[in-house]
Amino acid sequence: MERLNRYIIGSNASIFQKIDPTKNVEVFLPTNEEEIKEAITYAREKNLPITTKGGGSGMSGACTGGVRNKVVISTMRLKQIHELNFGKGYAIVDPGLTADEFNEKIQKKQPNWKFFVSPSSRDIATLGGMMSTDGGGNDAWLAGTMVDNVLSVEFFDINNNKIIVERIDDDLSKSKITCDDKNLEKQLIDKGLSLLDIAGSHGVLGVVSKLKVMIKTMPEAGKESYAVIHANNLNNFGKIIYGLIEHDIPLTYGETIVEARHPDISGPTNPPMFILKYPTEYDEKVQAICNDINKVDFTSVDLEEFEVMAEIRVKMAKRNPPEGFQMALFEGYGIYGENLLRFEEIITTINASLMKHTFTPFIKFGHAPSVYYEDNKKIKGIIMHSREKRPENLTPKVVFDGIVGCVETCEKLRITPKPEHKWPFQKTTEKHKRLIELTDVLGKQFNPFLLECSLEELAELVL
Ligand SMILES: Cc1cc2nc3c(=O)[nH]c(=O)nc-3n(C[C@H](O)[C@H](O)[C@H](O)COP(=O)(O)OP(=O)(O)OC[C@H]3O[C@@H](n4cnc5c(N)ncnc54)[C@H](O)[C@@H]3O)c2cc1C
Repeated sequence: MERLNRYIIGSNASIFQKIDPTKNVEVFLPTNEEEIKEAITYAREKNLPITTKGGGSGMSGACTGGVRNKVVISTMRLKQIHELNFGKGYAIVDPGLTADEFNEKIQKKQPNWKFFVSPSSRDIATLGGMMSTDGGGNDAWLAGTMVDNVLSVEFFDINNNKIIVERIDDDLSKSKITCDDKNLEKQLIDKGLSLLDIAGSHGVLGVVSKLKVMIKTMPEAGKESYAVIHANNLNNFGKIIYGLIEHDIPLTYGETIVEARHPDISGPTNPPMFILKYPTEYDEKVQAICNDINKVDFTSVDLEEFEVMAEIRVKMAKRNPPEGFQMALFEGYGIYGENLLRFEEIITTINASLMKHTFTPFIKFGHAPSVYYEDNKKIKGIIMHSREKRPENLTPKVVFDGIVGCVETCEKLRITPKPEHKWPFQKTTEKHKRLIELTDVLGKQFNPFLLECSLEELAELVL
């Protein structure tokens, strides 16, 4: 059983799947704070690093802890809701609860209330994992990402100090810090530790043990319009996203198909295209955005046509090419700002990098407009997913070289690699610098491989 635990705990959704169960020296499945502390004490006394694992749905491999000897603390049994306060619009929850489990419990009590962060992986992604990757969902454009929906976070450091970080107001870069160790508290206040630091920290600051999050009522269903928009080229496609952002259109559904090399997808959808839903009062505005751009076709559709398109879009991620199989070599790209106006060049460069490494581009799709944080700055753009045709000569080296090629391409084009994960291994980012600064104070025993790993160590994780 213990051996099985070590195997199971290593599995995850990323392409970094090579598990050496013996490196998971001890696996803890705490059910309460005391047991979290016992696990931390064990690791500290054995001088082993700690990797905290939520649902394992992260796409960066961060929850694997790399190939190093380590203690794994799984939050799979930390699923309690400590308070549901509909009057004040918050809940206090354990970190191992999934978004789906949380919403099911909320809606049992109040059917029209909701926790608004819902990644497509909401059936397995935990609230602790979502905080640590700053997850967002299809509706992030209106609902924001995890950090926008969190009021406070509690976490434990390597000495079992409980640190509470609370939102003060709308300025997320400022938080109230509380800790029994007043010396540590002062150091963290001096460093300006905030909820933005914990969001996307990939478990390097400590074990998130509790979260206070916002819950809200679902908006009254008003009159909504549905539209399908086609652009004749990728630059015009990017201009549409630019326009929707500039005019702050409150889309309740904004999905795109950027390219598709499968006749069953490209035939009925004719990419690049958008599938949109928005309040009817914005009809004129959305049409005006399209009319301002050369050769863009705006078509009003009814609910039935909208649902047909939305269904094709959702199923794309599971559809194989006519011959062979699709794979997500490098799942996500965040494209924003003036880059939206040179979309053609961006896609051509990404595809050239994929082909150089023997991957044939297959489909690209995304949420647009959407939001994510980069170096604590809120970015508005497209979160684009990419799927490639699996090459016949697939080896760990081919995969890894392809991924490194994608990261270099992102750097060259100044686009964000993997928005959900901000590619945590990238050492050139402000986020990386900031986490090093904070771990100088908090200790470096949590997921250290993430901040200091080499390409060789990462390559070892590819199956
Ligand atoms: C099919 C699919 C669809 C997806 N769709 C989306 C999407 O729409 N939006 C989106 O944002 N993401 C999406 N993702 C990515 C993934 O679901 C998110 O990154 C999610 O937030 C990860 O949560 P998790 O519980 O699985 O975390 P894990 O993968 O277990 O861990 C992720 C990171 O968080 C750390 N961590 C986990 N729990 C804690 C804790 N309690 N304390 C400290 N550190 C912790 C881990 O150490 C690791 O570094 C998708 C993934 C898949 C497979």
